[in-house]
Amino acid sequence: MKTRKLFNFSTLLFWRFIALLFYCFIILLFFSFAIRLHASGEKDKWVALTFDDGPHPFYTKKILEILTKYNATATFFLVGTQVRKYPELVKAIFAQGSEVGNHTYHHKRLIYLSDEEIKDEIEKNTTLLEKISRKKIKYLRPPGGRYYFKSLKGISNTTDLEVILWTINTDDIVQTSSQIWRKVKMASDGDIILMHSGVPQTIRTLPKMLEFFRKKGIHPVSVTRFKEEMARREFNSECGQVLR
Ligand SMILES: [Zn+2]
Repeated sequence: MKTRKLFNFSTLLFWRFIALLFYCFIILLFFSFAIRLHASGEKDKWVALTFDDGPHPFYTKKILEILTKYNATATFFLVGTQVRKYPELVKAIFAQGSEVGNHTYHHKRLIYLSDEEIKDEIEKNTTLLEKISRKKIKYLRPPGGRYYFKSLKGISNTTDLEVILWTINTDDIVQTSSQIWRKVKMASDGDIILMHSGVPQTIRTLPKMLEFFRKKGIHPVSVTRFKEEMARREFNSECGQVLR
């Protein structure tokens, strides 16, 4: 009888110990989740927005209006022939807080051109953009993102530009709004997103995109702002090619 009682007492102790362990585990789990949630909420994320092939007579203004509404900026890689037609849009881009980059004068694929032609394509557009904006042009995006490093390196002393490519290609010219959206919502810290200026489905997706970034704590900004942030955090985005 005595043994039976002792057994009951130790069994009770055992189960109390197990229950205590279980409570401790739950509390630990809760705190680790709370800490992780807090940390992820605090960490700001940055993406660069880029729009190629503009300025577009109607859509560039539309893009700027949407960016302003969401307190966002972008880099517009402009084509010289378009710039010549719509110079006021270059000024409008800077006035909004965004910036412009060089996308060559005629939007020709650089890999099919001689070094002399490449130099001309780039310099002609830089001169035009700097004359209109009175700002230093810092970036080049070769049409289609295609170029020979050796060719550009060879003329880098005079062009003095940094090649900026991308990490997310929305392929927006040929995609639907929902396909663009599917690609953009994969964006995370350190991404450079490629879009185009004259694409209606991109304009339709843009507000939803910027709303999404806001909720996720992602700052959509110009390449310059993006690079400052990446440099501050020593984050290597690996989508720029410094030629100088
Ligand atoms: Zn282009």
